[in-house]
Amino acid sequence: MKLKETMLNTQLNNTVENLLIDAIGDEHVGTSYDTPLREDAFDLDDETKIEMIEKHFKSIMDIMGLDLTDDSLKGTPKRVAKMYINEIFSGLNPANKPDIKLFDNKYQYNQMLVEKNITLFSNCEHHFVPIIGKAHVAYISSGKVIGLSKLNRIVQYYAQRPQVQERLNIQIANELKRVLETEDVAVVIDASHLCVSSRGIKDTQSSTITAEYGGAFLNPDVRNEFLKHIS
Ligand SMILES: [Zn+2]
Repeated sequence: MKLKETMLNTQLNNTVENLLIDAIGDEHVGTSYDTPLREDAFDLDDETKIEMIEKHFKSIMDIMGLDLTDDSLKGTPKRVAKMYINEIFSGLNPANKPDIKLFDNKYQYNQMLVEKNITLFSNCEHHFVPIIGKAHVAYISSGKVIGLSKLNRIVQYYAQRPQVQERLNIQIANELKRVLETEDVAVVIDASHLCVSSRGIKDTQSSTITAEYGGAFLNPDVRNEFLKHIS
């Protein structure tokens, strides 16, 4: 009797947990501004991580019944492991954070600077499938200026993590504020999520827009000027 009850409870708990897992994924709810990382996240070096991921990914393919002796498939676990650590999730590691040097604003250019249509590739942390879109960033110089390609690099660094678009937007804006030593920063992201288009609701037409405005960009006139530039 007792055993049956416990089994029923466990089944119920599992069902609730499964429903919750689906709901959080499909609703795309993020939980924090900081990427949830454990304290020991970088105790292992990249080489070790690649070896371990290779083994685990091999198991996943094995479980699905794929023939890993096939020439086309046998290198896949290694390729995926290298891609995770060295490319698409390399932004998890602070060691890969772009080193930003600022320059004096010699021209005394004190209007807004906008870099629009920055290519953005990220991955959804709920499904590990791509988020593809554009980021538009702007700032008003506080006396220092940044090399334009560094704006791309900052976007790229935070995009190369398992992400939620809202968090990605905030992380980019916060880093720009920090390096540029100003609150006068705007970041807009317009992106398509493959977890929305290739699975689940299967909507291939929608895109998601998020925005973060600081300092002068909270003024509607300044914000509208920026929005006019990126439209
Ligand atoms: Zn997703």
